[in-house]
Amino acid sequence: MVDWTYADVDDGCFLIPRPSSTTTYTLGYRPYSRALSEGNELVVRSSTGELPHYSASFSVTSTGGETVDLELPNDVLPRMYAVYAYAIEERFRAQYQNRVLNVWNGNSGPLSCGANCAGRTSDGEHHIHISNDSSNERKFLMIHEYGHANLSGAALETGSSLGGNDCSLNGSTHGMRGVEHASCAAMEGWAHFVAAEVFNDGSVSSEFAYWSGEEFDIDNGSGTCTSASDDRWPLRFAIVCGNETNIPARGTELDWLRALWDFQYDSGSMPNNDDMQNMFLDTGGWSQSNIYDQVEAALPSGFVSRWRTAADRNGVCVLGSSC
Ligand SMILES: [Zn+2]
Repeated sequence: MVDWTYADVDDGCFLIPRPSSTTTYTLGYRPYSRALSEGNELVVRSSTGELPHYSASFSVTSTGGETVDLELPNDVLPRMYAVYAYAIEERFRAQYQNRVLNVWNGNSGPLSCGANCAGRTSDGEHHIHISNDSSNERKFLMIHEYGHANLSGAALETGSSLGGNDCSLNGSTHGMRGVEHASCAAMEGWAHFVAAEVFNDGSVSSEFAYWSGEEFDIDNGSGTCTSASDDRWPLRFAIVCGNETNIPARGTELDWLRALWDFQYDSGSMPNNDDMQNMFLDTGGWSQSNIYDQVEAALPSGFVSRWRTAADRNGVCVLGSSC
């Protein structure tokens, strides 16, 4: 009897004892939504905080001494688990290592955020709450919250300091197109960027879906400030549509998402995911409003003009005036 064990990271297999003599027996099997994922433990919980699991059983005949290979069903774990495992194992991890990530379907866990959020408890474990609502494109929302946890976990791993995420400018909530303090615009834009990164291939027509169901072309934008075009909302949204003159102290998540995307994928020598995390990890922290300056000052010299070009194109900073 094995209480529980992790499947092997590389081949998905695990070994269990079997009777030593010739016998036919029934093997019970119950996979839980808990796994080691590239050195990080991923735990996905139900709305009541339980670990979802499924059961299967197999009738096995063993003559003793031989290895019996059983192929288990591979479609039994929750979709939420699959989304997070895909992000961590395949798409965006960088220096996010040795972390425990608890994902709660709903709000029964330790963060009293009452909505979708990510945070860290005093034991160093990260938690994500995904509320039970009917919004569309929830995979982007799930990985948006992972984007927050990813950067926080990477900072713990590397011993780096981050600044805050001050979304208080126009009340305590924030949205894709609302002007916020730059710390909020940058950190929410970062979380969007990670979601975009996980579900796109880096092509110029890549898309990001906001959880209201709006789909954005990450690279391009047009239309008017009051009516979305096919590719959704003009570039330099904070300046053009928010009439914001205090750039780079303020900005929008949308502009930061597009700036980070252009910075990584514009032609030329592209930053890798470690470089992208290091944009913030290397700053030593930031205030409510100086995150652009902190990022630019900490960039390796070879990336500075690339970043300034992406920032200018998307209105995160404007060459010739504020930076
Ligand atoms: Zn967020």
